[in-house]
Amino acid sequence: MTDESGRRRVVIVGGGFAGLFAARALGRDFSVTLIDRSQHHLFQPLLYQCAMGILSEGKIAAPLRDLFKKHQNVSCEMAEVVDFDPGGHKVICLRVGGERIEFGYDDLIVAAGVRQSYFGHDEYAFWAPGMKTISDALAVRRRVYGAFEMAETATSPEERRTWLTFALVGAGPTGVELAGQIREVATRTLRSEFRHIRPEDARVLLFDGGGAPLASFGPKLSQKAAQELRRLGVEQHMGSIVTHVDQGWLEVRDHEGKQTRHDVGTVLWTAGVEAPPVAEALARATGAKRDKAGRILVEKDLTIPGHPEISVLGDMMSLDKLPGVAEVAMQSGLYAGRRIRRQARAGGQVQTQPGKPFRYRDLGSAAYISRGRAVVSAGRLQVGGFIGWWIWLFIHIAFLTGYRNRLGAVLTWWLAFTRDIRRERTFTTQEIKNMRDIYTSPLESSQDAARAGITPPAAPPQPGPAR
Ligand SMILES: Cc1cc2nc3c(=O)[nH]c(=O)nc-3n(C[C@H](O)[C@H](O)[C@H](O)COP(=O)(O)OP(=O)(O)OC[C@H]3O[C@@H](n4cnc5c(N)ncnc54)[C@H](O)[C@@H]3O)c2cc1C
Repeated sequence: MTDESGRRRVVIVGGGFAGLFAARALGRDFSVTLIDRSQHHLFQPLLYQCAMGILSEGKIAAPLRDLFKKHQNVSCEMAEVVDFDPGGHKVICLRVGGERIEFGYDDLIVAAGVRQSYFGHDEYAFWAPGMKTISDALAVRRRVYGAFEMAETATSPEERRTWLTFALVGAGPTGVELAGQIREVATRTLRSEFRHIRPEDARVLLFDGGGAPLASFGPKLSQKAAQELRRLGVEQHMGSIVTHVDQGWLEVRDHEGKQTRHDVGTVLWTAGVEAPPVAEALARATGAKRDKAGRILVEKDLTIPGHPEISVLGDMMSLDKLPGVAEVAMQSGLYAGRRIRRQARAGGQVQTQPGKPFRYRDLGSAAYISRGRAVVSAGRLQVGGFIGWWIWLFIHIAFLTGYRNRLGAVLTWWLAFTRDIRRERTFTTQEIKNMRDIYTSPLESSQDAARAGITPPAAPPQPGPAR
């Protein structure tokens, strides 16, 4: 089947790295419909810099229409995919406002990423934003910088102390990056800006159920990260499971089983991921199996068993324990785009046998810890400190989308790293009735919870800044 111009129709769900690379690899001989619930492609690895006031949202996100303006064969549609009709070869979406629309396809690529997981406690999302979208990053920015503002006008030492205590749940790359950044903001950027508080008194508590931060980087780099976090003043609570999150406090169980309550002004959640609801809809419609995190189990050619016309890519696919990183998403996108192109050249017939298998080339991973300090792991290369930081810088500049974003980021980083200047600290409050409600304003991560019928729990009568 083809469109009016005789081109084969490919629908791509998700304009992240996987969707973008698939669309580019397809070339111009297909009629491509790229559906995303956002209007932009987001460079997630730098979200924390947007949250912490270094980069603006425009520097880490590019409008999908702009990225494809020269590709007349690609049509970008802002809509949320909610269901699939594999028999009728249709994708069912909701437009903003709720109207139902459908798109027909010959080949379907689903690359909708993952979302934050609260391990069965989606109600935590109201108090502890995750870090997946621009809205999340802006909410984190408001909470972090808002907490310093609230501390400045606090009416008691207890309240001030609570606002100046920040908790991070999850000591993977994003948790470590945020923890280091909050201490840097407190000790450098805000050092001489307040009159009633000492921002450098801010405490940052990092909780993780595992034994060390950045455990996926191996013991040597993990140890380096722990040392660097100590030097920055981050209090590391490893082997600690968060058992409850509420407005103004959280409770933690340590490895000896002891429960401790911490009064904290801000909780940020980076602990786990799970597939979004659209993965469940796809599994239901196609009979595909899912792993424990809800990701779709795919064949070696990234298609769904029994559906060679449907590929699942990037973070949303489950194959050979591949990590959820940008490189996997990009390479899977390239692979799927090329596979569909090859197939079309071979006569347009969908293959009934699995094609040449997808092979991931691991180029390594990097995590920023603080100014001038990062860790990089690539094969045998295990680098930390200043050299690691240079490599981190190079990688992130190279992968940012668009040369304007690259130039802008270089200039902004130079100001941030050499002169402690963070120009992107603006946050708005007009949508909030009371500054104390910076907790409860709707967040994207909490909207999924709200859609699932979970409402914010009532504020508890315990002490805490939001009473
Ligand atoms: C804070 C953070 C830091 C990271 N740091 C690194 C790093 O340093 N290095 C690294 O390699 N990786 C990093 N990653 C992981 C990397 O960003 C992901 O692996 C990569 O973005 C996955 O690409 P994807 O295309 O599969 O999904 P995504 O990039 O998540 O894109 C999915 C797209 O699908 C859209 N979508 C979702 N549901 C629907 C729906 N129902 N309908 C329509 N559209 C939908 C979303 O809006 C989104 O645009 C980081 C991730 C995060 C969140």
